[in-house]
Amino acid sequence: MGNTSFIKKLPGTDSPEPALTPPDLDSAAPTFPKKPKLGGSTKSRKRDIPEGLWTKCPKCSELIFDKELDENQKVCPKCQHHFPIGARERINALVETCSFEEMDPQMTSVDVLKFTGVASYKSKLDAYKKKSPHLKDAVVTGVGMIGTQRTALGVMDFAFLGGSMGSVVGEKLTRLIEKATEGNLPLVIISTSGGARMYEGMFSLMQMAKTCGALAYHAKQKLPYISVLTHPTTAGVMASYASVGDLIIAEPHAMIGFAGPRVIKDTTQAELPPGFQTAEFLTERGLIDAIVPRKEMKAQLSTYIDFMLTGRQSAAKSS
Ligand SMILES: [Zn+2]
Repeated sequence: MGNTSFIKKLPGTDSPEPALTPPDLDSAAPTFPKKPKLGGSTKSRKRDIPEGLWTKCPKCSELIFDKELDENQKVCPKCQHHFPIGARERINALVETCSFEEMDPQMTSVDVLKFTGVASYKSKLDAYKKKSPHLKDAVVTGVGMIGTQRTALGVMDFAFLGGSMGSVVGEKLTRLIEKATEGNLPLVIISTSGGARMYEGMFSLMQMAKTCGALAYHAKQKLPYISVLTHPTTAGVMASYASVGDLIIAEPHAMIGFAGPRVIKDTTQAELPPGFQTAEFLTERGLIDAIVPRKEMKAQLSTYIDFMLTGRQSAAKSS
């Protein structure tokens, strides 16, 4: 809120150019080689901005100082657009300081099928591990304090192979759920995924049944499970553990569905209703219970967990 001086640097038509941008777009020779812009017109207001300093909001075109964006949990301070956020950043924002004990941090995927396509699965895995050294796969799991409650927490990361669910994601989440069941802990899984990991074929699809099986045992103990859907949550993940929460909440404007809207439109040749497959659309229709902005997530999760555990205790007393 305080840094409104940064917000003045709008690449608007009349405002003077920010000092960091190179001169006019019309001068054809770019200062440094940039990837070609697909479908970009010469009228585009895009400017070359030094990386690592500013980020342009895709929704309101505001230039946001990266530090400000980080401090704001990757939410645009002007229009509240939710940028993608890494699993570890999210955990930091949700759990009490130093309370998170990670589970299975070293578990990594194996190329059982010796999959080769445009690129081999092994080379993909190696590349992603190098790109995000703090991740071994697309989920981070562990137990931490959310408010006053010890909670089993699994957080997916879209930056690792599109948050795809392979055997490691399935196994780590299953172990987390089983730990929650054994330890009488509430469970929160924050999903973001393009679906099952096709490099692992049937092994990835099996994770849908495995995670849901473990969740059924967790539910038998009448322990609460909150599923948080973030942009995007689709396909095999949405068709398994993400959609079976006792409480299902979502971040604003997250795309949620099985197949993407473009695929559905092409297949059915029908016009889709406005806002199709957004969190708001699905809340109106009852699939999602509440939309919670990222900055309110910690407080809301804590309230929900407290409420559900109190309900569980009073139900146990009366039965
Ligand atoms: Zn914005």
